[in-house]
Amino acid sequence: MRDIVKKFGANVVLDGVDLDVYPGEVVVLIGPSGAGKSTLLRCINGLEKITSGTIEVDGQLLSYQEAEINRIRSRIGMVFQSFNLFPHVTVAQNIMMAQRDVLGRSTSEARQRAVELLDRVGLAEKADAYPDSLSGGQQQRVAIARALAMDPAVMLFDEPTSALDPELVGEVLHVMRELADAGMTMVVVTHEMRFARRAADRVVLMADRQIVEEGTPEQVLDNPTSERGQAFLRQLT
Ligand code: ATP
Ligand code: MG
Repeated sequence: MRDIVKKFGANVVLDGVDLDVYPGEVVVLIGPSGAGKSTLLRCINGLEKITSGTIEVDGQLLSYQEAEINRIRSRIGMVFQSFNLFPHVTVAQNIMMAQRDVLGRSTSEARQRAVELLDRVGLAEKADAYPDSLSGGQQQRVAIARALAMDPAVMLFDEPTSALDPELVGEVLHVMRELADAGMTMVVVTHEMRFARRAADRVVLMADRQIVEEGTPEQVLDNPTSERGQAFLRQLT
């Protein structure tokens, strides 16, 4: 991302953001409410249109032509706070749908991939269950499997554990850690500082529409240099 500016009307939400995320890298994005973290993620996959600047994903400049944006979106997995599974179909069907509709996979290929991924997130036995019968942590793991089924180049997570009961947070973070260890490129917005310390290659702290700190978890979380960064981290503890 180069010199990204995003305005909603007269409201400047991102003001000159530069961010590189390299293949295999895990970037954790932190910062106060309203800093623009969600907006930044939404710009990466074209859910929001930037006002100026450039975004390149997987070697391709992001344009907003419909065919182009759909192609890029299919390379980007996104997991939100609310899991948004389709309630009227089974877990496996949730994971199969876009594989068939977007990637053109056959039902049997899509089913096989769904079963593999459910196994990977620890839910092999839930393939034919309906989402409503699952806990929040299980539903979020299905949402992760669903995103992975598209073989994305990068996974974006926007506070994936914020809506969960505390005892269910760990199982989702565990799946994310495994994904990170397996070399997935990830951008994660989270308030889970332990996850940031353990899984992040780089922590990026946003405040006041800009990136104010960037570095290893130790650099950013233990030795922030900006006043905004220091203020944000102080109120966490
Ligand atoms: P939080 O930690 O609360 O999720 P955030 O860092 O994700 O905050 P954003 O949701 O990106 O912050 O919001 C940044 C700013 O952009 C806020 O002032 C918000 O009100 C504004 N904003 C976000 N989406 C829109 C929209 N669709 N229309 C108008 N303003 C918006
Ligand atoms: Mg947000």
